[in-house]
Amino acid sequence: MLRRPEQRDREPMPTPDDLLPFKPAMTAWRRDFHAHPELGFEEERTSAIVRAHLESLGIPYEAGIAKTGVVGSITGTKGGAGGNRAIGLRADMDALAMPELTGAPYASTVPGKMHACGHDGHTAMLMGAASWLAANRERFAGTVHLIFQPAEESRGGAGVMVKEGLFERFPGDAVYGLHNLPGLPLGTIAVPKGPVLASSDTWEVRFIGRGTHGAKPHLGTDATLAAASFITSLHSIVARNLDPLQTGVVSVGHMAAGNPLAPNVIPGEVFLSGTARALNAATRDMQEERIIALAHGAAATHDVLAEPRYIRRLGPTVNHAAQARIAYEAAVATMGEALARDDHPPITAGEDFSDMLAARPGAYGWLGTGAPAHPEGVHHNSHFDFNDEALIHGAAWWCGLVERELG
Ligand SMILES: [Zn+2]
Ligand SMILES: [Zn+2]
Repeated sequence: MLRRPEQRDREPMPTPDDLLPFKPAMTAWRRDFHAHPELGFEEERTSAIVRAHLESLGIPYEAGIAKTGVVGSITGTKGGAGGNRAIGLRADMDALAMPELTGAPYASTVPGKMHACGHDGHTAMLMGAASWLAANRERFAGTVHLIFQPAEESRGGAGVMVKEGLFERFPGDAVYGLHNLPGLPLGTIAVPKGPVLASSDTWEVRFIGRGTHGAKPHLGTDATLAAASFITSLHSIVARNLDPLQTGVVSVGHMAAGNPLAPNVIPGEVFLSGTARALNAATRDMQEERIIALAHGAAATHDVLAEPRYIRRLGPTVNHAAQARIAYEAAVATMGEALARDDHPPITAGEDFSDMLAARPGAYGWLGTGAPAHPEGVHHNSHFDFNDEALIHGAAWWCGLVERELG
């Protein structure tokens, strides 16, 4: 049974101010990671800094999980019922393959790589939380697994950690994730009650016709016409097959056919690919089925062959109700009512934290980093820069969550 925070007779929950002593270190780590971005499964330097920090705190860890992943386990000394429980807190460490244009003094020193999603901040905040937890072991019972995950960006590091036995090696009752969100006011913690992020799948279709002379179309069959017809009908999936009150996205991202030096040739093949997003399994299944049916339908209409392929990459990230409630209560206790939200609308981006939520109960929260003084832009943009003022807020929420779960 959940108890209301004010009914509990213990010291007040940690606040962002309690994390102020760790702000200089967190800021230095964040900027150092920012200057030295590493792509998924290549986070050797980042991982080494995380390990050194855990070692300095006397927190035992295991490294090499999903190549560069690190899991530190810190046990509290408080007596009581929480002693056998354990939770996991997850931070991602990877950067993106894109150029940086921020002009910051700590801008990327690696051409073509940058921290444009704020994972530098995520890693620094979990390291800061580790510092606070190590200094306040008497405030919690049980064990906190600090999960430093590689390769969140399109490389599925969370799934690899789960496959390599993350939850068997570090058993826990719940797992929590956090991501910065620039549009949300600084210090806000928003924990949606249900869907947080969408599934993220890739689809491909190859239309195979009988290529012919552009002047003599009747001697072949035209894969380009089938592709055109397919694209037009593709957008009927969301418009006509999906319940208007549900969310789905189907987009074309790539087309390839023919040769620009041969405009008088009707190509024998057209290749298309794109993305599909959904907030639940039923919409995801429906979109997969319709994409494949429409590809075969367009092919049959134009007497060509279709080879469609639907590649399931990430499931939707959907918070478990009980853990979303706990995470929201921790936000109320650490940030105050005004900065805690449980009603944030879902976002159609994807997150591999869905693989952890598929294995264990848990929840994922947004950390507001938006402030007029720090125009950090949007994720995955060359001008993006994590707002260091949010470090104490994110780290405080982690610590508050530990007290709420294990206090
Ligand atoms: Zn990202
Ligand atoms: Zn991200």
